Amino acid sequence: MINPKEHLIGDIYDLPQGTFVIVRGKIVQLDDVQSVLTSYGAQTEVRNRIVSDETASIPFALWRQLASSPLSVNDNVKIYNAVVSKTTNGEPKLSGNQKTTIEFLAPDAIPVTKGSSSYEEQGEVVGFSDISVYKSCSRQPCHEKKLVQNKCPKCLTNYDDESNKLSMSCSIGLLQEENITTVTIFTPQIRQLIEDLHLEEKNNSILEERMLNILPIKVGFTRSPRKDSNTLSLLKKL
Ligand SMILES: [Zn+2]
Repeated sequence: MINPKEHLIGDIYDLPQGTFVIVRGKIVQLDDVQSVLTSYGAQTEVRNRIVSDETASIPFALWRQLASSPLSVNDNVKIYNAVVSKTTNGEPKLSGNQKTTIEFLAPDAIPVTKGSSSYEEQGEVVGFSDISVYKSCSRQPCHEKKLVQNKCPKCLTNYDDESNKLSMSCSIGLLQEENITTVTIFTPQIRQLIEDLHLEEKNNSILEERMLNILPIKVGFTRSPRKDSNTLSLLKKL
């Protein structure tokens, strides 16, 4: 780590994974502390939140002792030594580590945030297609990576014993005014739409029917800022 530079959140999307950065932003969403298993089999705590500035929003995961930092929604913070990493669906996010520190800024320090709710657009989900349920890595750092011949291409764990997870992707039709766009969503976002989602590798027709039955669904969402992407980085049922 060589003197991390201060970046606008919108610029983080162009940085390589593993880059240390300093960012300023407003906390616009804060999840509960979760207990998770690490790739080394240890139990640890993580707290996810979303930080916004005038250029963009980005998820930020705080691990271990940082998970219990006294933070509230609308706090303005300066985060030192955050690391650029990836979310479940390959989008940029920030992670905290032992070197990460958080400084609280004055309430007016972040004048404008991009989408003061973290969900920048609203629309209706009007269609589902291309449902795919697949075996995935159950280790937290691999973010449900799809297995290739029962093996995780990221951590190389072998899942011949069928201790893998099942994950899902599908396309959704998003209606906004008169326009429908098709985007791909993954398990965490699908769970936002369907509570108690139960995945089976076969029999997608039952799942498909169940999904079609709950349409249309009003949602708030943020598109992936990556230019070539048709995925959503955030999705929530309204
Ligand atoms: Zn893995």
